[in-house]
Amino acid sequence: DRRSGGIMINDDWPGYSLDLFSYPAHYSGDLDSVIIPHGVIMDRTERLARNIMDDLGDHDIVVLCVLKGGYQFCADLVDKIKALSCSCDHTIPMRVHFIRLRSYLNDQSTEDLHILGAEDLSFLAEKNVLIVEAIVGTGKTMETLLKHVETFRPKMIKVAGLLVKRVSHNSACLPDYVGFEIPNYFVVGYALDYNEYFRDLNHICVISESGKLKYKI
Ligand code: 5GP
Repeated sequence: DRRSGGIMINDDWPGYSLDLFSYPAHYSGDLDSVIIPHGVIMDRTERLARNIMDDLGDHDIVVLCVLKGGYQFCADLVDKIKALSCSCDHTIPMRVHFIRLRSYLNDQSTEDLHILGAEDLSFLAEKNVLIVEAIVGTGKTMETLLKHVETFRPKMIKVAGLLVKRVSHNSACLPDYVGFEIPNYFVVGYALDYNEYFRDLNHICVISESGKLKYKI
């Protein structure tokens, strides 16, 4: 499934009822449904880790975690790669680096993308870089980030994206490793936020209208 678009979540998939899972009580009423339960995220991440090992296993890699939304996926992906390295013969020396982007206000993408605390990434020169991002929407963020990273002349750049939204994007900006392809609606949980809320939710969920109102700024 190496170059696949990941597990397909169809437009007519209603999700699971929240009552079937446990989730923080402070979010009751704020969510409509569970789209991807935490366990499924973990299982899919394990497979992505194997695909990455198969492709990059002979190289050193610099993992570039896109904050804030990417922290959970990055941590779990790195854990799975480490576990695989232990259980098979070849290990990947990994460095982990963080970059912070911000483009959303409420549930709307804003035009200006900021690389916060943009620093010198010249240590990426001649390195194999794995960019880890939680979600790709229009792909604009990824496009900007790729251009930025390319200026530091790494040897290779691969992108892992847990979620890709089904919108028309520039296919050049699709991740090399995709966890799930999802409909074009706003999701939260597993470190994805709505105005900083819902990062402390394990499952990937759809926010309810009342939830949007409650946390709107
Ligand atoms: P793009 O530039 O691809 O349209 O948007 C990518 C960025 O917007 C991601 O890095 C992510 O931070 C944010 N984003 C896009 N869709 C969603 C979503 O459904 N939920 C959340 N929480 N953030 C999203």
